[in-house]
Amino acid sequence: MPATTDAPAKLLNAVRQSPPFGALHQLPSIVLREILRYLHPSDLLNVARTSKALRKLMLRRENAYIWREGLKHVKGLPACPAFMSEPAYAHIIFSATCHGCGAGDVHNVIWSWFVRYCDKCLLASSCTYREMQTASLIPQDALVIGEMTLKEMFTLIQISSPLPSYRFHLPQIDRFVKAWKRTTTYEERYELCDEQGALVKAMKERATECVKWLEWDEERKECERRAALIEQRISDVINKLQAAGWDPEIRYMDDHKSKVTTLRDIPIVLQTSQLTDEEWPLIFDAIKPTLEVARTARLADERHLMLKSRTNMLDEAIRDQFATLPRSAHSFARPYYIDLAFKPECRELIDASASRLITKEDFSLVVPGLVVHWEEECKRGFKEWIKNRLPDTSSLPGNPWPRMLAPW
Ligand SMILES: [Zn+2]
Repeated sequence: MPATTDAPAKLLNAVRQSPPFGALHQLPSIVLREILRYLHPSDLLNVARTSKALRKLMLRRENAYIWREGLKHVKGLPACPAFMSEPAYAHIIFSATCHGCGAGDVHNVIWSWFVRYCDKCLLASSCTYREMQTASLIPQDALVIGEMTLKEMFTLIQISSPLPSYRFHLPQIDRFVKAWKRTTTYEERYELCDEQGALVKAMKERATECVKWLEWDEERKECERRAALIEQRISDVINKLQAAGWDPEIRYMDDHKSKVTTLRDIPIVLQTSQLTDEEWPLIFDAIKPTLEVARTARLADERHLMLKSRTNMLDEAIRDQFATLPRSAHSFARPYYIDLAFKPECRELIDASASRLITKEDFSLVVPGLVVHWEEECKRGFKEWIKNRLPDTSSLPGNPWPRMLAPW
């Protein structure tokens, strides 16, 4: 069972892996208790079984906090009832041993009595109403003083084996009778009956809580079990796909969950059954369209990144050509990458296949020639732009504009 904190994890593992917990005996008591409080109750029970000395230490009243802390590690578990100790509570829930004979693998918890009994001990530790009457187990005036019925004073359960019957718990009756014998006054007996009735009521309420928790815990464990089976199946599917060369698509799907369908979105993958070679072709046919969509998206993304990288190289090559000191008007009047990117010399480099290594130097070789053409185009364009905006002076003597535009 996992501890709920990582801090002492290494030490706990060392303890667990050194049977029979021999190292624990060497530790100072304060260190030992500090370790124990991080253990799950089932581990505490195992530790307590290793030696009398440890059991004695752990069952001391002042060390009850160890068990309380341990019980807190159990998700959703109702708090320990006031009518029993924390070790006893841990025992009934996490130890499958009979409280009567100590036999193991006993799964019959009688929650109304807060005990775990094998079939034999259940019968030996209980009695029917008739047996109770015949043996005169209950002082008759107890019912009169308490003004309660037997069912209110003692917890009654119904069993179906070996024969259907309603039974009282003998240890509960025994404890009451012993307490009854210690009373001397009417008031003490009245109070005892009151306490007994309250105890039975509390036990019923807490039993209901515990049964509900057990059902919830079973459901949780079943969910975890199913989730583990599904994870195993997904893992098996991934292994098969990787072996078939679909690893890039699997990684792409993992990295782009919001963009593409993933294996976890495909119902035939999310099964609890073990993946078999026989069903694999059917599963692959169901997965293949998703893989192909992922492949198309991946290739498009990769091409986009490649184009972006190559246009960045073109931009750097242009900047390099114009990076002169001191700076001049010419160094600022440079083309942007988009001005040259669609020229055939650049298109050839930018659109080259991914398998061809393209570097900034490749662009640096073609940029100077393209820049010369770009500058000529700019000048031509500027000249046209100016001319279109000048008044027609051709008829004037000494027309000045041709001379002024000559440098362009
Ligand atoms: Zn037993």
